[in-house]
Amino acid sequence: MAGQYDVIIIGSGPGGYVSAIRCSQLGLKTLCIEKCGNEGKPILGGTCLNVGCIPSKALLDTSSKLIEMEKLSSHGIDAGEISVDISTMQSRKQAVVKSLTQGVEGLFKLNKVDFLNGKAFIKTKNEIIVETSDGSKDSYTAKNIIVATGSSPIELNGIGDERKNIITSKEALELEEVPANIAIIGAGAIGLEIGSIWNRLGSNVVLLEALNEFLPQADKQISKQSLRILKNQGLDIKLGAKVLNAESFNNKVKVIYSCDSVEHEIIVDKLISAVGRKPFTHSLFAEDLNLEINSEGCVVVDELCCTSIPNIYAIGDVIGGQMLAHKASEEAVMVSENIHKQASSKVDYNLIPSVIYTHPEIAWVGLSEEDASKKGFDLSTGSFPFSINGRALASGDTEGFVKTIVDNKNDKIIGVHILGSNASELLQQAVVAMRMNSSAEDLSRTIFSHPSLSEALHESILSAKGKAIHLNNRKKK
Ligand code: NAD
Repeated sequence: MAGQYDVIIIGSGPGGYVSAIRCSQLGLKTLCIEKCGNEGKPILGGTCLNVGCIPSKALLDTSSKLIEMEKLSSHGIDAGEISVDISTMQSRKQAVVKSLTQGVEGLFKLNKVDFLNGKAFIKTKNEIIVETSDGSKDSYTAKNIIVATGSSPIELNGIGDERKNIITSKEALELEEVPANIAIIGAGAIGLEIGSIWNRLGSNVVLLEALNEFLPQADKQISKQSLRILKNQGLDIKLGAKVLNAESFNNKVKVIYSCDSVEHEIIVDKLISAVGRKPFTHSLFAEDLNLEINSEGCVVVDELCCTSIPNIYAIGDVIGGQMLAHKASEEAVMVSENIHKQASSKVDYNLIPSVIYTHPEIAWVGLSEEDASKKGFDLSTGSFPFSINGRALASGDTEGFVKTIVDNKNDKIIGVHILGSNASELLQQAVVAMRMNSSAEDLSRTIFSHPSLSEALHESILSAKGKAIHLNNRKKK
């Protein structure tokens, strides 16, 4: 037996590494096993830090700086001829990734978390076999197991077998030159963020989205206006476009799709598949363990993230739901504290913020107006555009608006939706207010600094109550 632990965690993404640190903080003897590695050394951080959230944000930031530079002439600044060196851009991104993944390693050492590189297999409810890169196998025992293995990109049937020009988001973040023409299958968060990066850097980007509706999970007013803005930026977003086939030839890809029952053919340099992600459970559980997995491949858990086997927990993308790093991390804290028998609050799934890092950013929490109406709420809505917000005008970044939805029965804020520059940061104020059970009146009586983008949130709440100052209120109170 190679080692005995209170908790063994499989996976070191934002679910796995957070639970490893929290368990160790609580005095539990903890081991984290990560299958990604280099020469036997684990590469920590999972999809988010290595090939997802963080590298995409680094490239979104570089490409948005380029667009900002191009707009500087309206400020009277002549930036001369601007160009981007893609190789420098990629090495900066890699340096950001390295600093964060090494940061996790530092935190593991600080918190005395044991970690190793290898492929874990749960043999029994207390025994894990780990196969290391040299092919050797060791057995570890644990009182509790946390499965945090994440997800992998869904590959379309018959498409994506060639890993050079038909690629997933991972390879799309590693390109060393700007492709002239890109097609992306799927206009969800990944499609829009990757499309934005390469469109800003000069590619012609077409997004082929099977649904007729753009961002159906967002509030309709937000999705309608963001579609218009993104199209104006040059993203050719085709709705109701079903990809029928794609094949590589002469270093290009021929894509056949149907739209309004008409078949179309386009030739592109890269085809990127961004049609969602699936839970990763491949070769993870012994069959006679009988751990319950649903028809979508998600590990089935209860509200405390406990699987069908009482001492095995699962968190993050592997259990489905919103595949978001911050959801995984929150589940990680809940599970770790429950294992330690600490009083832990349950994750409030109604208050998980969603952000798409386009420019302007699209961010929301709680219910959309459509969902709130369907659920029968007697609601008031308020909104405020950035085009009349002083700070937004001063910086020349005036697209979008803030929309708030209030339950008239108890004056509670039940949804906040922001399309705008820094929407991800602005939204967090609403998340805190909603978490504190603040009423719309509480927020409307809160002092917001002037001039700030946050004033748009304030005015939007005031507008829901018919009391906006810088706007013609639809109703007076
Ligand atoms: P998604 O589910 O958000 O979007 C995929 C889109 O592809 C959908 O709109 C779907 O209708 C479309 N689609 C599916 N099959 C298609 C087909 N055959 N032809 C054309 N369109 C098709 O998935 P994603 O964008 O790949 O992201 C995966 C997960 O990662 C999501 O859960 C997402 O929330 C998460 N993620 C979040 C962020 C963020 O929060 N900023 C960023 C990236 C990824």
